[in-house]
Amino acid sequence: MGGNSPCASCKLLRRRCTKDCTFAPYFPSDDPQKFAIVHKVFGASNVSKMLQEIPVQQRADAVSSLVYEANARVRDPVYGCVGAISYLQNQVSELQMQLAVAQAEILCIQMQHDPVVMPTPDIIDSDQKSYFLQNEFPQYLNFGSSTNVIHDSLKRENIFGHDMVS
Ligand SMILES: [Zn+2]
Repeated sequence: MGGNSPCASCKLLRRRCTKDCTFAPYFPSDDPQKFAIVHKVFGASNVSKMLQEIPVQQRADAVSSLVYEANARVRDPVYGCVGAISYLQNQVSELQMQLAVAQAEILCIQMQHDPVVMPTPDIIDSDQKSYFLQNEFPQYLNFGSSTNVIHDSLKRENIFGHDMVS
């Protein structure tokens, strides 16, 4: 900060900016709005107390946080930056739900394309062939056996009839 020109805080508060001014390193005179909004929301004396209570190496982060929170409070007087945080949290959970739905859809499509989980396609083919052969044979056997049953019953009737006749 140039020797004589006071920092934005001291200019707004109409006081002499000393060498050990708490605000000077963080509120330069070329950005008066930065201090104005922090002063409006938190009050200059509260900001001064907060800055003096924390280590010097953390003060720049604290000031940028205070500026961010003050801007959020002016935009949203009820919720402030909590409104922005909860809006973003809602967005995250909505997107997580969309992602879960999309992953479930992918799983469904994959299962429709590959219903049988087998190591190689060749094994699937031969297994499916033997599966169909095994399924077709019992059908013929059942049909044959059912006709055999009919034949048997006819034979029995014939035998019975023969018995009746004889
Ligand atoms: Zn100052």
